[in-house]
Amino acid sequence: MNKTLVVEKLNVFYGDIQALWDVSIDVEEGEVVAIIGANGAGKTTLLKTIAGLLKPKSGKIVFDGMEIGKHAAYKRAEMGICYVPAERELFPQMTVLENLELGAFTKKAREKKDENLEMVFNLFPRLKERKSQLAGTMSGGEQQMLAIARGLMTCPKILMLDEPSTGLAPKLVVELFDIIKRITEQNLTVLLVEQHMHQALSIADRGYVLETGHITLSGPGNELLSNPLVKQAYLGA
Ligand code: ATP
Repeated sequence: MNKTLVVEKLNVFYGDIQALWDVSIDVEEGEVVAIIGANGAGKTTLLKTIAGLLKPKSGKIVFDGMEIGKHAAYKRAEMGICYVPAERELFPQMTVLENLELGAFTKKAREKKDENLEMVFNLFPRLKERKSQLAGTMSGGEQQMLAIARGLMTCPKILMLDEPSTGLAPKLVVELFDIIKRITEQNLTVLLVEQHMHQALSIADRGYVLETGHITLSGPGNELLSNPLVKQAYLGA
């Protein structure tokens, strides 16, 4: 299997405070990898550093066989690294369709825009029904789906989802994970950060546990789910 992403010994600071300590992870092509951990563990910091929005003090990030540590965020996006932040960052005054079209900003994505629109409308029929609605007037769940759909419009080689369940009612969390599962069945490479650990590990091929900036455990999703330490610390066992 090809490694889409290899992160080696990443150390990231906010001022004097170290948020990530020698963090190493890898994601193979077509794999779904979950990073689980409590509030403040460093999950968002890790994704933002991979996306190029934060600069590490040391460490290596290799994407598609190429060291990208010195590439700007826009360059990484063009290469196929798509970061969907927990805050969604939609354009509220623009329609659903306009938000989706803005996702198709790279040359490759522009060429595949119609094909990708059809694909996301198939995955998210509700977005199709509401394509003329202003994004800011959509419900929280619909906005999250729009943020993911916009990510898919970029033709990502890796889709990084930061806490997609943020602010969603439990019923919608279930629906959201169903959709993420369907996306992953299309052989897309996904790096997923979540506090809903049970759902995340259930759909992940592999997972890593991040605790106060350190990777403390890793393994297949189902093994982590049944790991007594994970159960005790995170799954309320
Ligand atoms: P959450 O699930 O709450 O978003 P997280 O696992 O994503 O948590 P991060 O947001 O990556 O965690 O934060 C990791 C650590 O870095 C925390 O201790 C946090 O307080 C700190 N941190 C995050 N952003 C900043 C910032 N801009 N300035 C200073 N410290 C920060």
